[in-house]
Amino acid sequence: MSFSMDSTSKTKELVQKAEQVYRDNFTNECWYGRCIFLSWYCDLGTCKFCFRSTQKHKIKFAPDAQRTLSSVLVEALLCKKLGWRIEFLTGGYRIFPIETLVEITRLVSKVYGEKIWLNLGVISLGDLKRFKPYVKGIVSSIETINPKLHQQVCPDKPIEPYEKMFEYAAGFKKSMTIVIGLGEKKSDFKLLAEFITKHKLDRITFYALKPVKGTLFEKSDGPTTEDYQWWIATTRINFPKLELIAGTTARRYEEVGSLLKAGANAFTKFPATKLFGTRAAHKIEQDIVIVRRKLRGSITSLPKVNWNKEIENLGLGQQLKLDVKEKMELYLARMRKNIDEYEINPTKNIKCNDDE
Ligand code: SF4
Repeated sequence: MSFSMDSTSKTKELVQKAEQVYRDNFTNECWYGRCIFLSWYCDLGTCKFCFRSTQKHKIKFAPDAQRTLSSVLVEALLCKKLGWRIEFLTGGYRIFPIETLVEITRLVSKVYGEKIWLNLGVISLGDLKRFKPYVKGIVSSIETINPKLHQQVCPDKPIEPYEKMFEYAAGFKKSMTIVIGLGEKKSDFKLLAEFITKHKLDRITFYALKPVKGTLFEKSDGPTTEDYQWWIATTRINFPKLELIAGTTARRYEEVGSLLKAGANAFTKFPATKLFGTRAAHKIEQDIVIVRRKLRGSITSLPKVNWNKEIENLGLGQQLKLDVKEKMELYLARMRKNIDEYEINPTKNIKCNDDE
């Protein structure tokens, strides 16, 4: 998608206005939101843009290929100690029995020390009550708000059950995800605005479409940065107090500063453990400073923490504790290696497939 000079300068003006609205309503702090996956597999697997719909993914990730609880808890502890927020706990549809999901959610919230957000599809009222002690908000993966486009792109994931869930989810904060670049028009913003107002949303997570091989969108470039900024800035101007989170990827990380400038509170979907301390992570931190924001925590340096002691204090069972310690060592070793490599060669790019 190309932009004329006229539309580029209009977006610039819009972004300036959105930045001012942001500053009138929030402090300059921003954060990295870590999305914690419970499984790489999705039982639905029919959304046309999603890598979980590709054959390659289905072969590689069998339905029983769930993430280990230890790595989920390691991520929760890293979030706590590195100043990251847990964007939400998520996973493919119908992967775990509800008792298991509630128990994992309890443990993640215990390790993190706060109630968390859930993005687990449509949850019944009875099940929501079971999650309530550990969960502050629920997320609906709406993906696109235009009904016709939604029907084409997510044929088996209708919007209505999510809307119903928002209606009965009293006492929970509410959020939605939306992907920019699926074919929506700027005029669809009206529909988005109506949805936000109707359901009194507290938060929205935006993503830029990522072209995935083997999907309908494999030849798409994804939205331009200007187009992506347009959606964030327009939402910020119309909803000054709404929490806006902007997704990035290992390929689009250079636009994080621009997305914050357009009024996003935070960024997410950066593969921050794999790319911890790398050139990409440093670039994000530098750009945050350039747009006069301050990052809570760090994606480049490890705080002094006695990790074993932290894990001891979590009150986990003996075997789980040992597994978490072991897994933590693996995570830390990779993060330290990145830090060392960056010291030797700060221009080195580390390749990372952020899907896996
Ligand atoms: S977008 Fe979500 S529901 Fe759709 S295939 Fe991907 S993981 Fe499954």
